[in-house]
Amino acid sequence: MIHSKQNRPDTSRTKMLLPPGSVYLIKCLAVNCNCEDLGTTCRRGFFSLWIQAVYGRHFANKFKSSSYVDFGDRNYLYTDRCRFPGEGNFWNYFYIQPACETGARLSNRFIENYPLRIWQRSHLRAVYQGAVRGLQLQHDASHYIENLINRCQKHRTLGVHIRRTDHSEEVPGVSLNRYFELLRKHSNYEKFFIATDDHTVLNHLIGEFGKDRLIFQEAIRSHDQKGVHTDDTIKDRYRLGLEVLADCYALSVCKKALLVHSNVSYGALLLNPELPYLLLETRMSMFSRWKTNLVYQLDRLGVRKM
Ligand SMILES: [Zn+2]
Repeated sequence: MIHSKQNRPDTSRTKMLLPPGSVYLIKCLAVNCNCEDLGTTCRRGFFSLWIQAVYGRHFANKFKSSSYVDFGDRNYLYTDRCRFPGEGNFWNYFYIQPACETGARLSNRFIENYPLRIWQRSHLRAVYQGAVRGLQLQHDASHYIENLINRCQKHRTLGVHIRRTDHSEEVPGVSLNRYFELLRKHSNYEKFFIATDDHTVLNHLIGEFGKDRLIFQEAIRSHDQKGVHTDDTIKDRYRLGLEVLADCYALSVCKKALLVHSNVSYGALLLNPELPYLLLETRMSMFSRWKTNLVYQLDRLGVRKM
């Protein structure tokens, strides 16, 4: 009986989602997120929230319910009231979504759209079809991102995601030497698109391969291994969001990508589930990926609940 009990959504939830006009609201609501304390800014990174948003859309679609990404319920690191005085929902800076319907509203439970990374094509394709393909970028964001995408698509480009700041405990880093080795092995690519949050790393790459060989954004990057998104002295919060979003879209259109265990890398696969990629991982991150996949499979079979 565990099967039926665990694998079916809570009936009280289903009842609220099913009536026509009901809206599924997606907010942080993470257990143990600092923003549990009212009035505190949510400190989660852009793609942790982005993945949660698309998982939330996917979840609502299963019930044929509409969804609304409500990253305006509190302050987030990307809330930019200087640039958007009348808009507190940072999702709306980047994506067009219809105004929230007036029907019954149900806030997400974090467990329903936990941004778990499942490195399986079937899962990525399903989420892409149900919740990513329909995303529509705002005009300004689209213009900026298209420009970067075009630069990558003009050539046979290898996308390279190098994550150096924060998350070092959660995701053990891949050494820079390993990247250098791999880039030399991929010398048949005309260009390398570099998505990195680290200023020094980019300079090393320019020194090794020359500026003309590389495509990158003139982005805000860290000079001291600390994440730029948690640096409160940076006032242009919109730009921080736009640059990480553009990196992800650009990675997703490359001929092939070198990815790591991070939400940005994973986001590129949600944007393009057919992207050929090589996942750079340490033994520890490989075990953690296997464990996550196993938990996901057990949940699908109804043996345990995520
Ligand atoms: Zn939060």
